[in-house]
Amino acid sequence: MRCGKIICVGQNYRAHIKEMSSDEPIDPVLFLKPSTALIGDGRTIIIPPDIGTVHHEIELALIIGRSGRNISADKGLQYVRSVAVFNDVTARDMQAVARKAGLPWSLCKGMDTFAPISDPMPLREVGDLHSLDLELKVNGELRQKGNTAQMIFTPEELISYISRFMTLERGDIIATGTPSGVGPIKHGDEVYASIPGVGSLTNKVRNG
Ligand code: MG
Repeated sequence: MRCGKIICVGQNYRAHIKEMSSDEPIDPVLFLKPSTALIGDGRTIIIPPDIGTVHHEIELALIIGRSGRNISADKGLQYVRSVAVFNDVTARDMQAVARKAGLPWSLCKGMDTFAPISDPMPLREVGDLHSLDLELKVNGELRQKGNTAQMIFTPEELISYISRFMTLERGDIIATGTPSGVGPIKHGDEVYASIPGVGSLTNKVRNG
């Protein structure tokens, strides 16, 4: 799958901030994943050796349809072509070390296969982006349940903020943050992520 940049938003749901013992951000927290991390529905999440615990994070992804810079929030959704279910797979032990040392998250978030994404759903076919349920199961067991109404920064606020600093281009993906309930995935697991009205994503996990 080819795309532009993948811009991820950290700490955008209060309950997740609490479970990570973080402080609520004043502005959106942003990091990037490389496009080589992307995999589609049905593909396998591969965990490299010796990286410790790996976590799932279900998120709503916005897929940008046209270029823009300095986009106002009220026009933000005009730049979204489609939306998708996204899993911000994270090497959590490595992230904890990076956080403590004030180092970047590029590696713990950016490994190959660490950005599963569902088939896109055109925005015009999706209901209100501000009241979508998100649900993630591992081996059929419910792990995450949230609603986009719980976001601190709405999709259009994120687009406005990001585009003050980075030009958004057609094909860019914005992952809008995860609700609470993140937890470990390991070899042999099956991860099912769903946003009713948007789509679903099933990925097996194996060591590689
Ligand atoms: Mg995330």
